[in-house]
Amino acid sequence: MADAAERRERLVEVYREASVCTKCPLSEGRTTVVFGNGNSDADLMFVGEAPGAEEDRRGLPFVGRAGGLLTQLLAGIGMSREDVFVANTLKCRPPGNRDPQPEEIETCRPYLERQVELIEPRVIATLGNFATKLLTRNPTGITKVRGTPQVHELGARTVFLLPLFHPAAALRTPALAETLREDFASLPGLLERDPMQLAPPDGPDPGEDEGAAREADQLGLFG
Ligand code: URA
Repeated sequence: MADAAERRERLVEVYREASVCTKCPLSEGRTTVVFGNGNSDADLMFVGEAPGAEEDRRGLPFVGRAGGLLTQLLAGIGMSREDVFVANTLKCRPPGNRDPQPEEIETCRPYLERQVELIEPRVIATLGNFATKLLTRNPTGITKVRGTPQVHELGARTVFLLPLFHPAAALRTPALAETLREDFASLPGLLERDPMQLAPPDGPDPGEDEGAAREADQLGLFG
């Protein structure tokens, strides 16, 4: 594949395309497309659900209360937001923070797929049900699958996928926060491992403007 600088350039092109996207009706109600941010060559990528009010206003992912918890959990394993890339299943805020609809997820999915392909993470942590079901291509709910790493072929590469509770759920239910913290603790070890070691013998998972200123802000954060 291309080197990191070339992949970053291509990610910027995807960002530019996404930032004016009108492929689904969510574009009519959004303030800003929330593409994602962080290290464009990260080993660890997080995928959440969809931007909330604060994210929609600022154009950045996980900058509200759930984002504060995410940042704290990262600090707990000796990492910062600059070390990782954070994105969402949907790039635009659903009205009133309602659940993403299947057709919205399907329409937005190519952006996420291209992000994974270009960032080339070794580990993808999915936050909550929507990202988990989308990327595992399995309808099993988060409560059953959280904390156990899976191996998937994503973005033409074999990656570890670690389903986690969504930080917003952990803010609502303290018991989940403890579980989320424990599951986070497995991330550093996972980053050291080779996903091929867990792959089945016949190969991995088969089936499964503010314009300019805003752009500078977002791109500046693709470390
Ligand atoms: N919740 C999400 O799933 N994503 C965000 O960016 C913010 C809150």
